Amino acid sequence: MPAPILIVGQGLAGTVLGWTFEQAGIAFEIADAGHFGAASRVGAGIINPVTGQRIVKSRGVDELLPRALAVYRTMEAAWGVPLVRAMRVRRFFNDDRERRVLAEKSATGELAPYVGEADPVGFWIEGAARVDTAALITAARARWLANGRLREERVDPAAALARHDMVILCTGADDCGGLAWGDVRCARATGEILTLAVGGLAPDVILNRGHWVLPTTVGEAKVGATYTHEGEEVFTEAREELTLSASRLLAGREFAVTAQEAGVRVTSPDRYPLVGRSPRAPRLGIFNGLGSKGALLAPWLAHQWVNHLTEGVSFDRELAVGRFGR
Ligand SMILES: Cc1cc2nc3c(=O)[nH]c(=O)nc-3n(C[C@H](O)[C@H](O)[C@H](O)COP(=O)(O)OP(=O)(O)OC[C@H]3O[C@@H](n4cnc5c(N)ncnc54)[C@H](O)[C@@H]3O)c2cc1C
Repeated sequence: MPAPILIVGQGLAGTVLGWTFEQAGIAFEIADAGHFGAASRVGAGIINPVTGQRIVKSRGVDELLPRALAVYRTMEAAWGVPLVRAMRVRRFFNDDRERRVLAEKSATGELAPYVGEADPVGFWIEGAARVDTAALITAARARWLANGRLREERVDPAAALARHDMVILCTGADDCGGLAWGDVRCARATGEILTLAVGGLAPDVILNRGHWVLPTTVGEAKVGATYTHEGEEVFTEAREELTLSASRLLAGREFAVTAQEAGVRVTSPDRYPLVGRSPRAPRLGIFNGLGSKGALLAPWLAHQWVNHLTEGVSFDRELAVGRFGR
């Protein structure tokens, strides 16, 4: 007997959804085409509470951050794999405008509790984290293959509806469109990241000015990420751009580039994620559009799905796929 629910895609979205279903006692199967091209294999998994040139708090971060950390820490404990690390961000000012913006926002307290005192060069952001999304999907894959929950195959969602009551698409950039998306048009943005061999970095500090340098293991760091709307290729320009940023952020420290990877982020027209039942085919569900903030958002979206399936609670209006309908 097939399980009533099939999750299609076992990237960050499908994995967090499956884990949350397990915790809630909801029966499901999951299928993935082999992680090829999965953004979750490449993405840095940084959760930064304060971002952007306008120095703003990430939307909903006060509520979403503790929820996300609690979920990843339970996975970590259950699977015996390190997945999440508390970090601080050393953010450098680009110009005087940023100094002014920070001073104004600090005066109103709107960046509390994440941003404290600034100095002439930059400021510190507390309460950041790094989720190792590649390790997370790899650990879940091994576990679910062993217990027979995961099938490694490409699924045709329409055909799968004949075998399951509900099919939830967590397909990332691979399938961003189609029936589940209704009238929504997604945008894809390619991101590239370099791996660096570099010593002597503080393990819990992310350096950030436009791009970031993230220490990963002893003697290794990542620098990223570019943002382009072109195809998923590894570009020379991206390597040059990121190498230049790494030189600046590492302030003269020697490093060597050891790898370059690319992935594709998916965003909805209002840049907020998409969950819920397809407006055109209610037995088809969606969990996508995580953009650059998958690590922060995925646990919250999974919680919405569980509330919906167990209690009949409607999805938040600002997240529901139906918000773009005519
Ligand atoms: C360069 C880069 C840097 C990033 N940095 C960060 C960051 O610092 N912090 C952060 O929070 N986010 C970051 N992100 C974004 C984050 O990685 C994504 O939001 C997240 O990984 C998306 O997860 P997903 O599960 O939706 O998609 P994916 O990880 O792409 O997974 C989709 C899965 O679905 C499978 N699939 C698709 N179609 C089918 C089918 N028909 N049948 C079976 N399987 C199928 C694919 O094989 C794939 O494994 C970054 C992304 C990139 C590219």
